[in-house]
Amino acid sequence: MEERIQRGETEHIEAKDIKKRDIKSMTLAELTEEMVQIGEKPFRAAQIYQWMHEKLADGFDEMSNLSKGLRETLKERYSCPCLNLVDVRISKIDGTRKYLFGLEDGNVIESVWMQYEHGNSVCISSQVGCRMGCKFCASTLDGLERNLAPSEMLDQIYQIQKHTGERVSNVVVMGSGEPMDNYDNLIRFIHLLTGEKGLHISQRNVTVSTCGIVPRMYQLAEEGLSITLALSLHAPNDEVRKTLMPVANAYHLDDVLKACQNYFEKTGRRVTFEYSLVQGVNDNLDEAKALARLLKHMHGHVNLIPVNPIKERDFVQSDRRAVMNFKNYLEKNEINVTIRREMGRDIDGACGQLRKRYLDETRSSDKMQKDKL
Ligand code: SAH
Repeated sequence: MEERIQRGETEHIEAKDIKKRDIKSMTLAELTEEMVQIGEKPFRAAQIYQWMHEKLADGFDEMSNLSKGLRETLKERYSCPCLNLVDVRISKIDGTRKYLFGLEDGNVIESVWMQYEHGNSVCISSQVGCRMGCKFCASTLDGLERNLAPSEMLDQIYQIQKHTGERVSNVVVMGSGEPMDNYDNLIRFIHLLTGEKGLHISQRNVTVSTCGIVPRMYQLAEEGLSITLALSLHAPNDEVRKTLMPVANAYHLDDVLKACQNYFEKTGRRVTFEYSLVQGVNDNLDEAKALARLLKHMHGHVNLIPVNPIKERDFVQSDRRAVMNFKNYLEKNEINVTIRREMGRDIDGACGQLRKRYLDETRSSDKMQKDKL
């Protein structure tokens, strides 16, 4: 293709070579502009937008108040990414559902649906794979494949709402991927998700979790959003943090916490500090003491997560007594702390585990096929 362009043969590039634009990631204003440009009435944009983001249509064919001609034009010019359900596992313990979705390019991602007293929550992936390399996390074992488009982040919620028949009220961007590593798409996704004309989920019910990419945390504080920021802390000092999270080599903890403080000052939103407890690594009383000192003047709360062991690593979950001691120490020192309820323990609950297992299984069956040939 490049050679052809150099020879000035661009006119021979066939239409199918040009990637169709993703209509589901467009804002209503952009879509309106787009309709005007193709000679349609502006109100068509509102109709199409409503089909995609309120009626949760799975493609142009469902848009029954558009003429057949317009539907064909839309199909020719735009893509309307929809996920297909590859697998769903439902926990017998707590009803949590873990979804494996297929993307149009054949990649798979996972999302989780959880029921709480305050409503239904969906945990979405922001990337296919991840390049952050956190030692206890299954999502990162095969590295980063690609970023997800805003439409692909949205459609995880849309498909789950259709599958469960229940309204989703909370969204956490805590599945596979590092949202700050896919920043522009993340911000667009949040606007589409919380905008009046879509699912209209309250920004206060949206949480974005980051391993601590400092410049992006400052940028997020300036977006004028009222979402919650969660920081994956996992250690009270750089030394231990570096053993668990390679990103700690790039940003010092002091600077990460300054970025959290700035987020609170700019948005008024308290930060959540996630701390996965790993036996013998970050769960003893000295670490609890150091953590209490570190967070003494921070506006936020600590969410303790007993680490969910993955088979590729030999990390062990802290036992119940260590978790309680850790929690009690923080409480005595006036740090707000909760223990994350483990959801869907019987269905590969940890981030990226279901996808990883699926990939391993398909790879080994591919290999078996090849071996047979
Ligand atoms: N990349 C983002 C969001 C995805 S991970 C981040 O780092 O925050 C969401 C949370 O789950 C993070 O706090 C992550 O450290 C944690 N996590 C990942 N795998 C885990 C496991 N096996 N056990 C416990 N927590 C895990």
